[in-house]
Amino acid sequence: MTPITKCIGVLGAGQLGRMLAIAGYPLGQKFGFYGNSDDEPSALLGQMYKQSDDADSLTQLVEFADVITYESENTSIEQVREIAKTTPVYPAEKSLYTSQHRGREKDLLAQLGIPTPSYQVVDSLESLKAAVEIISVPSILKTTTEGYDGKGQFLIRDESEVEQTWKEVGGRELILEGFVDFKRELSIVAVRNTNNEHVYYPLVQNVHHKGILRYTIAPAREISEETQKQAELFMERLLDELDHVGVLTLELFETESGLVANEMAPRVHNSGHWTIEGAKTSQFENHVRAISGLPLGDTSPRQPLAAMINIIGETGPIEKALQMPDAFLHLYDKAEREGRKLGHINLIAETEDELYEKIKQLNEFLPKI
Ligand code: AMP
Repeated sequence: MTPITKCIGVLGAGQLGRMLAIAGYPLGQKFGFYGNSDDEPSALLGQMYKQSDDADSLTQLVEFADVITYESENTSIEQVREIAKTTPVYPAEKSLYTSQHRGREKDLLAQLGIPTPSYQVVDSLESLKAAVEIISVPSILKTTTEGYDGKGQFLIRDESEVEQTWKEVGGRELILEGFVDFKRELSIVAVRNTNNEHVYYPLVQNVHHKGILRYTIAPAREISEETQKQAELFMERLLDELDHVGVLTLELFETESGLVANEMAPRVHNSGHWTIEGAKTSQFENHVRAISGLPLGDTSPRQPLAAMINIIGETGPIEKALQMPDAFLHLYDKAEREGRKLGHINLIAETEDELYEKIKQLNEFLPKI
């Protein structure tokens, strides 16, 4: 029998790397992390190769690794390109390059026939004015790169606000998007391995507050088989076009006229954290399997319903979760700080009533609206 053990090098050492390692150890995999300090969430879960130590620490990580993956779409393209000369990097450069730029991402979605909000990339007041003419108001102005958790976004409600908005945020490349009047925000996590096997998790519903994901309901309620199939078809096109290996996530708006894609992430995703206890194989294990050349695991839910509640800013009354049946606490070993993702609680339930009752009991973890 061929040994399946692979040394997996992760660029980054945050909570995603931590959860990848936790999922990968039962498969016999080994982990190394390229991070900043010994205080990071992944630090005790594998060998740390610290950027600050010396210029060779990245080379050492690559020497350790059979395969390299990353935690963030803001990972340096140059670094990935260089590493890929000697060691496979999954997901590969094309997935990373596309998802680093909202314009490139939307171009690809449009090319694959996946509906997106109308959009225009702008880099001057004149081009913004012209874009507002085409897209009209309300519309959302976003930075083309490095936006996350709703950062770098500005709502334009009226044409009279265009000049002021440009004054405040212009002077760099931006993308103007038509405002989507959505019913719900959904996402889908898909996985492809090196043998071109594809699997899809069910669509989930995500609820955000101030741009940050607060909780996920999985699977999303009242999703027709047709809608799930539609989302899977979008993912199939993306996975194949990108020759993607690993987890790929697509955030979607559910509208009166169907699904509209918002953005994608070439990595395990916060809206997939419910899969740790909620699905037969977690997104983390499936990512590890995918990049290690292993068969993918069953993505179906273990229970009819699951939820994931993010713990943001302060740890809060975690004993409530610890005392609750079918609640699972995940802390990332991070210090409290406003807006910071410190952990999450997964819930599983047989019925909707049971699930919502549990969420109600944990309402101190949710924003007061
Ligand atoms: P993003 O960083 O693109 O995921 O956007 C953060 C949040 O802003 C989303 O989760 C939505 O709630 C909202 N949003 C983003 N783009 C649009 C849009 N075109 N129309 C309406 N709401 C949007």
